[in-house]
Amino acid sequence: MIDKLMQKMTLFIISIVLIIPVIHVYAQENEVSINVPSLKVRSGPGLTFDIIGVVGQNDKPTVIGKEKDWLQIKFGNTNGWIASWYTTSKTIELTNKQVISKVNKLNVRSEPSLSSAVIGQLQEGNQFTAYKTEGDWIEIAFNNQKGWVHSEYVTIVDQVVKDEPKTDTSSSGEHFVVSVDVLNVRSKADLSSKNIGQVLRNQSFLILEKDHNWVKIKLENGKKGWVFSFYGNYTEQPSTSTTKKDHSNETIKILYNGTNLRSQNNTSSDVVERVDAGETFTVLEKVDDWYKIDLKNNTIGYVASWVVASNNSLTTNIEESVAKREKGTLKGLTIVIDAGHGGNDRGTTGALGTDEKDITLLTAELLSSKLQAAGANVIMTRESDVYVDLRKRVSISHQVAADAFISLHYDAIENSSVRGFTTYYMYNYQKELASYVHKGLRDMISLNDRGIQAGNYLVLRENKQKAILIELGYLSNATEERQLTTEQFREQATHGIYNGIINYFDAQIN
Ligand SMILES: [Zn+2]
Repeated sequence: MIDKLMQKMTLFIISIVLIIPVIHVYAQENEVSINVPSLKVRSGPGLTFDIIGVVGQNDKPTVIGKEKDWLQIKFGNTNGWIASWYTTSKTIELTNKQVISKVNKLNVRSEPSLSSAVIGQLQEGNQFTAYKTEGDWIEIAFNNQKGWVHSEYVTIVDQVVKDEPKTDTSSSGEHFVVSVDVLNVRSKADLSSKNIGQVLRNQSFLILEKDHNWVKIKLENGKKGWVFSFYGNYTEQPSTSTTKKDHSNETIKILYNGTNLRSQNNTSSDVVERVDAGETFTVLEKVDDWYKIDLKNNTIGYVASWVVASNNSLTTNIEESVAKREKGTLKGLTIVIDAGHGGNDRGTTGALGTDEKDITLLTAELLSSKLQAAGANVIMTRESDVYVDLRKRVSISHQVAADAFISLHYDAIENSSVRGFTTYYMYNYQKELASYVHKGLRDMISLNDRGIQAGNYLVLRENKQKAILIELGYLSNATEERQLTTEQFREQATHGIYNGIINYFDAQIN
């Protein structure tokens, strides 16, 4: 009997011990602990935003939002943002939220930890109900069970309310047809604004408004959002992939010698003619990324849009480009941010399995938001996991007359002991920008400094603009890979690049 009683008591004590940590977590939900004596509170999610106050170790601010590695907190009568890497996150419950995977092959794990078991994978665009976040992890409903995904690789969106009737607005008005696999929809005409959903290739949407390089569209669920106009075509009627826009005044000029003109709008169709740089043709129609052109001998041909310059493909805002610049701002400057690789081109794969294409995009997004906050007009050559031809990247640089073109990469080499960051340029007119950005980086990151070097990369070689290519450390070195894949590294590296760009343009004013 005594043995039985002892057994029961032991079980009771064990169960209390097991329950306590669970209660502990939920009791402090939405609160965050500060790990440093004093942490700056800023007006927005980044180091470039104004400081509006500080919180300390005794404060337990309530978290009301999250963007990348920044937490939005209640701060007095207002809201503020703090850097999450100086905090210990607690569980945050999510209601009516869903996640959309930004990448292919995203592992779903049994626990919020990289060392836990993989129970499945998500593909880009897959959408699941989200329950809560814990640190950098989000718990989701996955195949009748629960699993965890890393928050860096998903977008959190509001759950779609399905009771709204579909209204047919497609009978009139201009439409936007998506020409990339997946395109982010944002709450404002601004890359740093909230991502509210995604649309897919060949989907057609009514255009509500246009603003510079952005169009406001109405989604199927009635929501309205902004997409970047580079990644689609305008059409009068909803159609699947062809624009019916009037191209009667549009001509294109061939940019490279030996350019192939083809019988169809794809690179595997027959070559009907080979032409040289400088030749011009009348555009009959634009089909996806291709121009259907008049070959003057009663025949037609197709040419890829990224090997030509069009007389009306882009109207850069002249007022903006001549706007007077002040020191310390980037107003009036157009900066192209080129996230290396994408889609089928994964780039290098790290010693621990990181895909270069994923972290170049994360780095590009962070850099873009910092540059925009300083007033720059930022163009990204890609903003999701899609393949973009190298020549198209250069073509974007020319079309927008970029004041700077920054290509972001992570390095790899067979000798796994090699470490460090390198900044490349090709021509003398690119060298000064390389020096400034490299110095900015050196001041912010602790990696081995491999200096600035001349590098024969296509995005530099074919680029008439001030283009540089940065290799932000070696993924082939496991220790360095661990460091490079942290949010803190990206925050510091992008801050360094940002400082370099500001200092470069400030020096031009003098
Ligand atoms: Zn690369």
